[in-house]
Amino acid sequence: MSPADRVVRVAVPKPLPQQFDYLAAERVPVPGARVRVKFGRQRLVGVCTSVDPADAHDDPAPLEAVLDDHNALGEELFALGQWLADYYHHPLGEVLATLLPAAARRGEPLTERTETVWRLTGSRPDLHRAARQQALLEHLLANGGTATPQALTDAGFSAAVQRSLADKGVVVREHRAAVAPKVAATEPALNLNPEQRQAVDAVAVSDGRFGVTLLEGVTGSGKTEVYLQLIDRVRRAGRQVLVLVPEIALTPQTLSRFVARFGQADTVHSGMTDGQRLDAWMRCRSGAASILIGTRSAVLTPFRNLGLIVVDEEHDGSFKQQDGLRYSARDVAVKRAQTLDIPLLLGSATPSLESLANAAAGRYRHLRLNERAGGARMPAFQLLDIRGHRLDDGISDRLGRIIRGHLDDGGQALVFLNRRGYAPALVCPGCGWQAMCRHCDMRMTVHHQPPALICHHCGHRQPPPNRCGGCGKSDLMAVGLGTQRTEAGLQRQFPDVPIYRIDRDSTRSQRRLEAQFAAIHSGEPAILVGTQMLAKGHHFPAVTLVAVINADSGFLSADFRAPERTAQLIIQVAGRAGRAERPGEVWIQTYQPDNPMLQSLIQDGYPGFAVRELANRHAAGLPPYRPMALIRAEGASADPVRALLQHLQEVMRTTVEDGGIEVLGPVSAPIARRADRVRFQLMVLADTRRPLHRALRAVTASPPRQSGVRWSVDVDPYDTF
Ligand code: ADP
Ligand code: ZN
Ligand code: ZN
Repeated sequence: MSPADRVVRVAVPKPLPQQFDYLAAERVPVPGARVRVKFGRQRLVGVCTSVDPADAHDDPAPLEAVLDDHNALGEELFALGQWLADYYHHPLGEVLATLLPAAARRGEPLTERTETVWRLTGSRPDLHRAARQQALLEHLLANGGTATPQALTDAGFSAAVQRSLADKGVVVREHRAAVAPKVAATEPALNLNPEQRQAVDAVAVSDGRFGVTLLEGVTGSGKTEVYLQLIDRVRRAGRQVLVLVPEIALTPQTLSRFVARFGQADTVHSGMTDGQRLDAWMRCRSGAASILIGTRSAVLTPFRNLGLIVVDEEHDGSFKQQDGLRYSARDVAVKRAQTLDIPLLLGSATPSLESLANAAAGRYRHLRLNERAGGARMPAFQLLDIRGHRLDDGISDRLGRIIRGHLDDGGQALVFLNRRGYAPALVCPGCGWQAMCRHCDMRMTVHHQPPALICHHCGHRQPPPNRCGGCGKSDLMAVGLGTQRTEAGLQRQFPDVPIYRIDRDSTRSQRRLEAQFAAIHSGEPAILVGTQMLAKGHHFPAVTLVAVINADSGFLSADFRAPERTAQLIIQVAGRAGRAERPGEVWIQTYQPDNPMLQSLIQDGYPGFAVRELANRHAAGLPPYRPMALIRAEGASADPVRALLQHLQEVMRTTVEDGGIEVLGPVSAPIARRADRVRFQLMVLADTRRPLHRALRAVTASPPRQSGVRWSVDVDPYDTF
């Protein structure tokens, strides 16, 4: 080693707790810069974490290349990476890789792309005989004068029309830095009602300093308007805004409202290419983007000058990453807002019990919007006792008449059930045999469109059998209810009315989803059948009836969050009703009309339900009152999986001896075998965070290996499945 040589410590994207040292001969990277290293026989892109560490390796391998001359993530995001690794007990190298956009992870240079656009010239030849060309000219005039050829194709202008305008000199080709599409800001701010005004003032007067505000506003109360006006202030002050939303594909209206108000907003979502993501990332990092609207992973974007974070529908489960780095975007947002000393606004009609507990403990400011904005009334809730009633594909006679009544009055009906497919089981009435998945300990779901048995847990699919796998008889029966079955039943009962099914099977194509939404928005009488996809943020102004046809199943699930999730779903889906002039009605079919959870939800609304459920959690010693982690393990057979978890349990118990933690298990996971892997789990509960983290660090710092067994830690799990 010559004296000029420096040892560089590198976090590589591998599931290993340690970092690795390399020797830099000429160029020495700064911490946060990406480097290329040889790792075994692989070449990896890692991130430099320090230079000349005190305990440097004596004989490090040479560094292959330095890819950045600066900290690629920026100070704040780089520090956030360290925090994420510590809090979620995930290897730093993998965390840092997660923070980089895919293109950067592969080692591509961090430069802003340019794109080709059409730009209007001053030339205006007579186009009155070329209607499409005239329309394109007007489109460009209305949209800031430039657009990419792709954007114009998407807007319905063919390549030929575009070329014709170019031939006439009306537009020219130009290269420019890729930016978010810009349109004229057309939507003026609304006059806030007093509750909204109070909310805007409360967040704004905090002087731009850190503080979390929980905005609990009933569906349609104008939360979005509160966000928009706050965002406007922050933008005027020259700072950036991050808005997290659950699912962009399902909430195009929210997005279009932002664009209509501000003319421009960057987005990140799963439908984007790597190049588009990198562009948005770079624009946020450089400060060029003023608003970023995105799903979960957007919370990991670097910003130059972030001034506000908004998390819309903060209770939504999609904010929790379910594999790899299992972070909660909401909780990371809190951490970032604190570090950056900026306000955070959490909005929901049905806040998570975590956030409500934080508000009750005085950690968050709690504001409420109790009235619907724009004069619409809240729907009325009614229970429909179906004990002893015959159901026709899930619909009771009484509910059938109620639906008919709403359709006759010119309204739309929304029928909600949280299971897709035709029926959740295929059963032999002769011997009790059930069609099970070959790879999981779970029943196959019957699908009719197209006909198949599908495992909803591993995706295995097979043609429906025509005879029993036990006794060989052929009169197999589909048992239970899914959206396809309810759709078929409604079609039979209401042959004169269009029925739109909206679930993960029917909406694989965004185009079809949009076509369905467009048909629904025409306002003609119709029936909507669907799963929780219908509960997400969409406005269906003509819907006057919401029917929840199997509410009981949700309250009966074993997951400790099931009551919370079910209540949120019911309230959210109910919120789709009566958003316009016509008041809405909500009917809930139940075999358990006296179920105290259902009763409290109906009588006291979500706030009353939440108080009651929080008391249950407190009594049971569960989150949010005690922190929880789950350690999941899986392998080809049970014994080594169980043995590994027993070992981890032992390590954790000897690390925290004073009874500060409780380790339950190992028990079979609720789905004991999935995709041919046997699954077990340990549940770790603690009275405070400190012993929980101490226990988890003990097992992740020097992870035991058991060949063929994979295991992972989930801090603050959302699903205990
Ligand atoms: P939320 O986000 O709470 O569901 P929205 O912000 O979507 O509610 O508002 C519901 C409806 O009320 C929207 O159509 C919106 O334009 C309208 N609205 C919101 N605030 C006002 C206001 N101050 N005055 C009039 N209409 C409003
Ligand atoms: Zn399966
Ligand atoms: Zn049989």
